[in-house]
Amino acid sequence: MKKGFFFDMDGVLFNSLPNHARAWEIVMARHGLHFTKEDCYRQEGCTSRDVILNTYKQQMPDRQVSLEEVEAFYKEKGEMFVQLGGAQPMPGAYEVLQAIKAIPDTQIWLVTGSAQLTLLDQLNRAFPGIFVRERMITAFECPHGKPRPEPYLKAWEMSGLKKEECCVIENAPLGLQAARAADLFTIIVNTGPLGYEDFAQWKPDAFLPNMKAVLDYLPNIV
Ligand code: CA
Repeated sequence: MKKGFFFDMDGVLFNSLPNHARAWEIVMARHGLHFTKEDCYRQEGCTSRDVILNTYKQQMPDRQVSLEEVEAFYKEKGEMFVQLGGAQPMPGAYEVLQAIKAIPDTQIWLVTGSAQLTLLDQLNRAFPGIFVRERMITAFECPHGKPRPEPYLKAWEMSGLKKEECCVIENAPLGLQAARAADLFTIIVNTGPLGYEDFAQWKPDAFLPNMKAVLDYLPNIV
């Protein structure tokens, strides 16, 4: 029986990846770089700075990129993301959260690499009454992000639960890798364009297409 549910944010609770991917694609092209939506999904979890530097390294290995350029690039991408509509709640996510919340003695945690100061406000607007600051592991609590296991290990330690009572809900290969390294049961909700082959080597416990399927799956583990 699972009692602790550790939710990733982007691509699980918020359908933010399509606009992130589109924003990257547009801004990379402006700078003469080739970048597809799949590239964005595969690298989800990497810092934006690394995405920029890695892409330059692969495609323009002789180009020297200054930190100022990286910052300006990141700002340009962020503005494009907002212009495209930013992050919307994932369809079905609130129903899953409410179903878990209704079960006695369950804990809902957010485990994200994000470092936005307004995160809790954003969560409360989209999913009223679900999240509390004490059950959020962000880049502030855990600077060593996914694919390292620390964010999930921290949530597990703070929950006071046994490992077999915990369940991670992730959408990204790097997130799955982190959850696996923490030795936790993991559901992949595959909300993007990747296929099972992108996740297979880390063997998710469940591989589901959307949040509605997660809701239907819940009775198996609670
Ligand atoms: Ca994610």
